[in-house]
Amino acid sequence: YTGKTGAQLLTENLNKIFVRDYQSLPVVVNENISVYDAIVSVFLEDVGTLYVVDENSHLVGVLSRKDLLRASIGKQELSALPVNIIMTRMPNITYCEKDDMLIDVAKKLIDKQIDSLPVVKVTDQGLEVTGRITKTNITKAFVALVDGDL
Ligand code: ADP
Repeated sequence: YTGKTGAQLLTENLNKIFVRDYQSLPVVVNENISVYDAIVSVFLEDVGTLYVVDENSHLVGVLSRKDLLRASIGKQELSALPVNIIMTRMPNITYCEKDDMLIDVAKKLIDKQIDSLPVVKVTDQGLEVTGRITKTNITKAFVALVDGDL
């Protein structure tokens, strides 16, 4: 018997869960594609958020479902409107790295009131998108914690 409380054990287990253990594949699009094509990607790839990259595959923006809806209620021609006009752009993107603790990502999602973070590899040239963490990934970790199969 360790003499530890349930809360201490929970904290210990939480500190052992990393982004790399629960991340999923990112869906990235080029900054020059149209809002129309981005909406098509959301359905084809079955994701809520698209990460936007430049010609060097470096992260330049984030497109959420609501960003795309907002652009769609205007009078613009969606197939002629590039996503880089409407996306949330660097340096305002909150991101994480694969070796970060999942609990810290969960806190960022709450603080920033967003649904997902891109997982990136930081290089001198820019940020390479290697994964994503969504509220669904966090929920899976939460359930695994209770089921004891970490
Ligand atoms: P939705 O807008 O569909 O509810 P979110 O809550 O994730 O989805 O997005 C809210 C706003 O925050 C959007 O304008 C989106 O571009 C932006 N956003 C989403 N994820 C991030 C992120 N990781 N970093 C910065 N901004 C983000």
